[in-house]
Parts: sequence; C-alpha cells; structure tokens
Amino acid sequence: MTTRRKFIQSLPAAGTAFAIAGHLVVGEGAATAHDPAPVKGHFHPKGKAPSKFTVDILKQAKTSLPFADKRDFEEQKKGLIATMKDLKIKADAGHVVWDMERFQFLGKQDEFDSIHPSLLRQSVLNNNYGLYEVIPGIYQVRGFDLSDITFVRGKTGWIVIDPLVSAEPVRAAWKLFQEHIGNGLPVSAVIYSHSHADHWGGVRGIVNEADVRSGKIPVIAPRNFMEHTIAENVYAGNAMNRRLFYQYGLLLPASPYGYVGQGLGQAVSSGAVGLIAPNRLIEKEMEEIVVDGVRMIFQDTPNTEAPTEMNTYIPDMKALWMAENVIASLHNIYTLRGAPVRNPLNWSKYISQALHLFGMEAEVMFASHHWPRWGNARIQEVLRAQRDLYAHMNNQVLHLANQGVTINEIHNVYKLPKSILSNWNCRGYHGSPEHNSRGVIQRFLGFWDCNPTNLIPLPQSESAILFVEMMGGAGKILDRGRELYDQGKYLLAQEILNKLVQAEPQNQIAKDLLADVFEQIGYQQENPGLRNSFLAAAYELRSGIPQGQTADSSSPDVIRAMSTELFLNFLGIRMDSRKAEGLRFTINLVTPDNGEKFLIELENATLTNIKGFQADKPDLTLTINRSDLEQTMMGAKTLEAQITEGTAKVKGDISILKKLAVTMVDFDPRFEIMPGTKAQSQKIGHDDPYKAIARKAIAE
Ligand SMILES: [Zn+2]
Repeated sequence: MTTRRKFIQSLPAAGTAFAIAGHLVVGEGAATAHDPAPVKGHFHPKGKAPSKFTVDILKQAKTSLPFADKRDFEEQKKGLIATMKDLKIKADAGHVVWDMERFQFLGKQDEFDSIHPSLLRQSVLNNNYGLYEVIPGIYQVRGFDLSDITFVRGKTGWIVIDPLVSAEPVRAAWKLFQEHIGNGLPVSAVIYSHSHADHWGGVRGIVNEADVRSGKIPVIAPRNFMEHTIAENVYAGNAMNRRLFYQYGLLLPASPYGYVGQGLGQAVSSGAVGLIAPNRLIEKEMEEIVVDGVRMIFQDTPNTEAPTEMNTYIPDMKALWMAENVIASLHNIYTLRGAPVRNPLNWSKYISQALHLFGMEAEVMFASHHWPRWGNARIQEVLRAQRDLYAHMNNQVLHLANQGVTINEIHNVYKLPKSILSNWNCRGYHGSPEHNSRGVIQRFLGFWDCNPTNLIPLPQSESAILFVEMMGGAGKILDRGRELYDQGKYLLAQEILNKLVQAEPQNQIAKDLLADVFEQIGYQQENPGLRNSFLAAAYELRSGIPQGQTADSSSPDVIRAMSTELFLNFLGIRMDSRKAEGLRFTINLVTPDNGEKFLIELENATLTNIKGFQADKPDLTLTINRSDLEQTMMGAKTLEAQITEGTAKVKGDISILKKLAVTMVDFDPRFEIMPGTKAQSQKIGHDDPYKAIARKAIAE
C-alpha cells in the first residue's frame, strides 16, 4: 500500500517529467502579444519570473519594514550548543523524513525577487538547526521539525515538552541532546501543551508506552486532550488533507519560485506518528504540581490556538512557557486548511492573564515554535503586543462589521495599527490579516454578506458561461487578461480569467494565463499560506493534479484515539445517502470491554447513532469488544472476519451489515479544486468498508 508520503515523494516535484493533464485547447483569437518566457531555474517548465510590478512591490516592502530591529536574530542564535552536521534525518526504512538541506538556498542571497522580504526573513530565522540552551536547566532542539522540542532538568531525569510530529526527528533530537547535555539521564516526564499533532506525534521516539501505563513516566496534558487530538480533523479530514496541498504547498519544491517554509517552521516531518494517551490531565483552570521535583503552574487556555491548550510557568526558574499561544507570528484565527474559526478575544484574554500572573516577573519566555525571549522588559513587550494583536483583530473587525462591512470586503478594509505591525512577532507568517479578518466575521455572522444575490448563487461553472458570453468570448477575455497581466493588475486579471476557466475547464491557454497571474500574486505575499495557495493552484492549472495511488497514512495510535461515537458519526458522513434510499434498520452495538452501548438507526437515508441507548427489538445486535473493533477500524481485520472467528457476535439479520457496507464511500484526497485539473478519476477501491479513514493527523 502506498502511503501519502510515498505518493508525494513519487511526484515529479524535482522538475522533471511533468505530466500535463489537460488537453491544449487553442482559444479563438489566442493572440500572443504577451507571452512571458519561462524563467531559467524555475522548477516548472512554464514557470515565470517575477514581473517588474512584483519586484517593485517587494522592494517597497523592504524599505517600509522594521529591518533595523534585529533582536529576533540575536534571540534565535543565543545559547547555541551544537548544530547537527547532517541536514537530513532518515527513517529506519531509509527514506528521508526531514530535510533542511533543501532550505539552504535561503541563506545564500540577501534578497530574492520572487520572495517577500518579510517572509524571507522569517524563513531564514527558521533555518536554525540544533541544540540551544534557553537557561541552565532548560534546553531546546529547534529546526528538527515544524515545532520545537524542549527538555527541562528534573530531579531524576528530563521533562520533555512537546515531542514534535514524528518519532525519527525526536530520536535525532534526543541523541544530539544526550551527546552534549543529557548526561545519560532518562526521560522522567512528558508534557503535551495542546492537541495539535506537532506537539505529540513523535512521543514514541522517546518513551515506552509500558512506562506510561505503569505510571513510571507521567504524561501530562490539558483536560479533554484525547477528545480533541483527532476530533478536529476527522469529519472533514479528507477535505482538510486536500487543502493542505494549498496551505502547505505540498507539491511545491523548495525553491525561490516555490516553497520557502511555513512560517511556523520550515516544514512538517514525514516519519512515524504515534500517540500515547496522557495519564495525568490538568483539570483545573490553574493547577500547580511538582513534576520530577520541578514546581510547575499550568494555566488552562481552552479555545485559543487549539480547543485544548495550556501555558506553563516554572516559578523557581522564572521561566514562562507560552505553548503555541504566543509565537513569533500572528497565528491563524481562521486556518486555510479549514477548521472551526478560533476565538481571538479568548486568546487575547489568556495572554493577558499570563502577562499579569507570570509575565511581570518572568525572565525567560519560550514556546513550541520559534525562539525564546529573554529579560522581563522584552517578555512584557511581546506579551502586550500579542495580547493586543488578537484583541484588535476581534474588536476592530466587529467594529467594522457593525457598520456594514461584510465578509467579502473586510480584508480590504481592516488594517492592523502601525504600532502592532512594527513588531515582527505580530506579522502574518501563519495567520494573515486578510484571511483572519474574514474568519472573525465568519465566526460571528457566517458566510452571508446579506446581499440576496449571494444567498442561493448558481454554480460557478453555470454562471461563468453567461459571463464569458457577455464578455465576448474566450478570445476577448484572454486579450484583456494579458493586458491586465502586462499592467500588473493581477487581482483584476484573476477575476475574468477565473470566469473563463470555470466556463471552459479544458482551455489550457486560459489555465496557463491564470496560472501566470496566480504566480505573481503568490510571489507578492508575505504570508506563506497565501503564497503557497496561489503557487499550488498555478501548479495544478499547469500540470494537473498528479495521478497515482493514494492511501491514508493515519497511524494505529491515531485510530485508537478515535472514540466509537466519533467512528460511528464518521460512518454517517461516509455513507452516500443516495444509495441508502428505502433502507431502514436498527442495530444495537455493544462493546463489553469498555461498557459502551450504541443504538444505530438507518432511516430517511440517514445513519444516526446515540450512545447509551438500545432498541427493544433491534434488527441486529452486534457485540464486539472495543479492542477488537479497533482491529477493524485500523483495517487489520474485517468485520466479516471477526464474525467468522467469533470475536464479534451477531444476533438477528446479518445481511444488514452488507447492505450498509455498499453505501460506504472512500473519499479521494485528490478531488479537483481548480476546474480542468483532474485528468481522469481513479477509483480507490477498498475491501474493508468499516475501516476508519482518519487521514493524517494535522500539525499546526
Ligand atoms: Zn504547533
């Protein structure tokens, strides 16, 4: 079976053998007055150089940004103990799971005319790679993954905070740490600051599960941790995984014309993801406990950067850990891969609480991404700026919304104050003011701008045909599109060219011109998510969506973390209701080993379940231990095999399971986003309809 990683690695991203998916359709009047030549050194044969308009915009940014403030560079390199000689981390199987070599080009030039100078600065800062002292007793390995791993000296060993995305980088970090500082002492505790996968996925690289189960090693996490680790990305998981190709530019090679980092860190490692459930939850709003001899105050900060998250203060070291609530960037209130919009006011208030409880005396502040801040004045400066950043975004966006500015206009109207923007740590390397401001309106008012035209709009493909006709056909649109391109009016150009591509998905000339337009807009972005999204769309318009087998790469641990209710809810989403018309039945599901019961009903072409209830006269009763059900959820053993072997017991009409199986659909993670980019549909067959397909746990 091909994993998603293998699928991505098999792509011709290195610049050879591009399969052009769409057919070349020569539009009427395909005049070629404008035809910028492909640029040498670009990873794509159709790739273009930045235009003079793009170059001017980037030059302008360079002069207007606070480059004189170099404190981030000093802080980033402070305390360096050792770099790692090898810039690549390999898995046991031999494939590369982490590669910093591909980002070395960033440090070779002071500027690139295809990278926003602010984004370049952030990516150069993220090019750090090694073991650092935060203060004596606290160390970080940075640049081994999207996130940082932290080691705090305990009485008997090392307290590990946030073990990265996958096991291989964690093992490499631990090795480097032990070579210089660790003194051979073991891991004595683990802390997960929050539920996103880049803060726990590598735990198996450093801890044996048996030691956690026996209680020898405490694994501490905020309350409701397990409920949220994967819940955030199961229901819409396939869509989120597809959207990651845009936000994280998964098909783009590292290049001045492509991927230049992710703002939070350079990339996401692709090793083995595992999850060991915590054995100690922080249940109170504020809880002080002694962890391996170290006094720690945990500040619960739910519904901020993650649904469940906590900051930690170590009073005896005057060290403040801000998890992912305060990093060297504006974070996502709305995240482009798709997620429920976060609560910026809550976020701001918890930063404020941390400032007043701990920030008045803290002497060092560190986090799960980027680099620490030293000295109380600097800590207060950053905390105050970050507090105001999220509060301003909430307040001013709603201020404008209350005066009639809609979700479709807010990004053009809302501006952060200059005093906030002059802090490098408040600039948009993850969230952007543009997509965050729209997110705030979405949170409070939803998608509708209150113009009835936008209430029940036609499909774009349908309305675009009329637009194209009214504009005088493809030839005229292409001519005007080229003119706008030549004038540097890219946002106007995309409006009309998108209409043409929507109306004529096979018009490759239109797709190529729209790709050229997207590429320039991409080069101009400070925010890597926006840059990647435009460049990813350009890639797919030029080359089509890569074909090949895909499969989910979710780890057994991640499947185990899925509650039975979540699994059943997701079956309801996977069911194609059109195939279930007329079916009607009830199933009692009993999982004796954990004492759970569910009533599952199919009625009105809708699959529902309710926990704790049973039907008096079910059509079928299925009794299976949760531990056995997990085998089916993981795809290790079909439900049919479990019934044959007797690990699952059935009473009643067993044919129901087959009928239900027929309605289940596997989601293809390569669905089309831009029209005409999918060459052919490839059915991914699966032989186990009751396998849980959680897709990849999402890091952020
Ligand atoms: Zn993170």
